[in-house]
Amino acid sequence: MTKPTILVTGGAGYIGSHTVLALQEKGFQCVILDNLTYGHQDLVETVLKAPLIIGNINDRQLLEKIFSQYPISAIIHFAAYAYVGESVKAPLKYYQNNLVSTLTLLETALAQGVQKIVFSSTCATYGNPQSIPILESHPQNPINPYGASKLAIERILQDFDTAYGLKSVIFRYFNAAGADPDGRLGEDHDPEPHLIPQVLYTALGRQSQINIFGTDYPTPDGACIRDYIHVSDLAAAHVLGLEYLLRENTSNIFNLGNGNGFSVKEIIDSARRVTGQAIPTQECPRRPGDPAILVGGNQKAKETLGWIPRYPDIDVIISHAWQWHRRRHS
Ligand code: UDP
Repeated sequence: MTKPTILVTGGAGYIGSHTVLALQEKGFQCVILDNLTYGHQDLVETVLKAPLIIGNINDRQLLEKIFSQYPISAIIHFAAYAYVGESVKAPLKYYQNNLVSTLTLLETALAQGVQKIVFSSTCATYGNPQSIPILESHPQNPINPYGASKLAIERILQDFDTAYGLKSVIFRYFNAAGADPDGRLGEDHDPEPHLIPQVLYTALGRQSQINIFGTDYPTPDGACIRDYIHVSDLAAAHVLGLEYLLRENTSNIFNLGNGNGFSVKEIIDSARRVTGQAIPTQECPRRPGDPAILVGGNQKAKETLGWIPRYPDIDVIISHAWQWHRRRHS
């Protein structure tokens, strides 16, 4: 029996492209909708070889065309802006795209009879945690517009389930990192605000130093602590989440993290081990919108979906990213 066709918005981007690859390896057909703001056409063409529709998720006519052309069974919705710092400076952009455009996508999907969606949410919906590790039941009080824009869609999905029967699996990612272990795909943003790629750009000599944003946090070394999860483990979780949705037809919410945290300084130390480079640092003030510690409990995804992260070791995560960046950027 042929597997269902999945519309992957943002499928040319970092997590989206790894997920398309994982879906294809399980036999799913994928159709990618991506406006290529952050996505890479070359990777779709050379690695994924899936149909790529270049356009925006708020383009009703384009969406209707896709739904009439392909037998879409479900949507995996990645397309979004995802930079905490930028969202504090440009909230309109975040609410416009992540919230308003997503509403258009949902409205059009429902009108076309598509009733299942896997949604990329974030640990940024929790805000400053009251307890670590953060469980899915933890209160959600985002402290930046990025988190608030994602939380708004979480609430909308719950209401749309009640009212319209739209079923959703919501994944709250912790920090996506690493690259395809076989070197086919990886992270490639310009500009690149994320920590691990910037640390590796410093190792490559593409930038002179890595700024450490905040050294006065209430953590053992004063730097922010995050839960870094390998992008291929995130991709595998999406396949399991989609299969769950297709099988159970039930909405659910899962954290996706490793359940352990590393400080900015520990990440730099790991990158020094992996690359053998000195990696100069500069201590800087805190970045607005950053909670001190974000580490997620992942038991629910493990128990309900049978998800087991294959690459929890931080040196392995960074070595896969290093392998990718060295090839892509040197
Ligand atoms: N960070 C940093 N220097 C940088 C970029 C990020 O110290 O050049 C810190 C940032 O303040 C946060 C952590 O690294 O505490 C992870 O940030 P990133 O932007 O990678 O992911 P986010 O947590 O914002 O999703």
